Amino acid sequence: MKLKTKIHLFSTLLMLVILTLTNVAVYFLFEKMAYDTERHQLQMQADQLTTSLSKMTEQTDPHAVMLAYLPQHGALRLFDETGKIKTAVDSASGLKEFTPTFEQKAYYAVTKYQGEPVISLRAPVIWTDGTVLELQVIEKLVEVKLNLATLVFVLVGATLIAMIPILLSSVALSRILIQPIERLIDTMTQSRRAGTYETIAAPAKGKDEMAQMVVTFNEMMGQLEENFVQQEQFVSNASHELKTPLTVIESYARLLKRRGFDNRAVAEESVDAILGESVRMKEMIEQLLHLARSNEQLAYQFKEANLNEEIEKTLQPMRQAYAREFTYDGVPNARAVTDAVKFRQLLYILLDNARKYSDALVKVTMEESESAYMISIIDYGNGIPKEALPHLFTRFYRVEEDRSRKTGGTGLGLAIAKELSDGLGMMIKVESIQGMGTTIRLLVPQKRLLTEF
Ligand code: ADP
Repeated sequence: MKLKTKIHLFSTLLMLVILTLTNVAVYFLFEKMAYDTERHQLQMQADQLTTSLSKMTEQTDPHAVMLAYLPQHGALRLFDETGKIKTAVDSASGLKEFTPTFEQKAYYAVTKYQGEPVISLRAPVIWTDGTVLELQVIEKLVEVKLNLATLVFVLVGATLIAMIPILLSSVALSRILIQPIERLIDTMTQSRRAGTYETIAAPAKGKDEMAQMVVTFNEMMGQLEENFVQQEQFVSNASHELKTPLTVIESYARLLKRRGFDNRAVAEESVDAILGESVRMKEMIEQLLHLARSNEQLAYQFKEANLNEEIEKTLQPMRQAYAREFTYDGVPNARAVTDAVKFRQLLYILLDNARKYSDALVKVTMEESESAYMISIIDYGNGIPKEALPHLFTRFYRVEEDRSRKTGGTGLGLAIAKELSDGLGMMIKVESIQGMGTTIRLLVPQKRLLTEF
């Protein structure tokens, strides 16, 4: 059964039950009130009759007195001490055979006789000779029966009329609830079929759960699309970037084949170029793999580390390898909770850039601020053009002039550095003045910021 039908059925049934219960309660309340009123009136009549009977003289005809008080649809009976009828008057047919049964000590009773409600009262009467007789006043509640029948008619009619807006509102309710879900299903089916990332037109204003669901769905779709576009771009960038060294390798290999065996200079140039490009390709593939893996959330292992030691451990092999001056000015006993291996990896990328894009000294400094250390990697190279600064962390981005220069590089280093610094809960910022040099600042929290992970 469809959800719409279920809501529809459930709300209608619920309203029907509520209405029926209310109507039943109204019916019984009315019935009780009607019986009470009738009893009250009959009681007054009986009181008047007993007074009149008590005032009778020997000559008065009790039959005549009783006739005067006879209810419209009822009977009056006077019983002597032995229980025999002394006088009886009757205005309703069929009541002659009716004998009311009173519960012990009860002075009135409401019974059904031949399908009609009958109310009976009994009262003592002091007779002219001093004996105590029993007067029974019986009345068929013809009007009450009629009124009750009218009431049933009105209640059933009112219920039927009330069901119209109830049915309409249940249709509206199920529509309000189901329509966004149906739109969601339609959009999902459309997206699945077409392989697109369709969004649902959200209601202009609305803060209810349905509107929230639509907004969340649209956000999710947006994110999926963004991820997909990024992934696509990454793959196309990666293949494009790998094509360049492969083309170079291919053309040099052809040159080597054609002229390399006779010409040593050509052979050397070709082999050098092939080697250089292969190394660059290998580096790029390694970095690509790193990025692919970091997408799957590389496991970071946080432990307290001595930052001075880690920085020195990174700087020392670089001094050796490049015979360049790397200075370090730290803060004594700088300790922070971090993943030392990843931290060194990050430093290596930044130091390698500083080295690649400058010829003079590379300076590393550290300052302590409230609950964090600021590490700066300073070089005095060419610097980075202002317009390039916002793109530095984008994968494969390289400043135009550096593309042609022989520094090597893939444009992936800073993208990896950004991912590492995010993973480590650090902040990275580039400041650069073209022609003067570049400073990369790294804000290292002393404690692991749990909110960041
Ligand atoms: P690459 O492998 O090209 O070095 P990166 O992502 O590490 O890739 O850097 C992106 C670009 O940013 C580099 O190509 C370079 O143009 C510029 N860059 C990065 N660091 C520096 C620096 N210290 N000085 C000057 N330019 C830099």
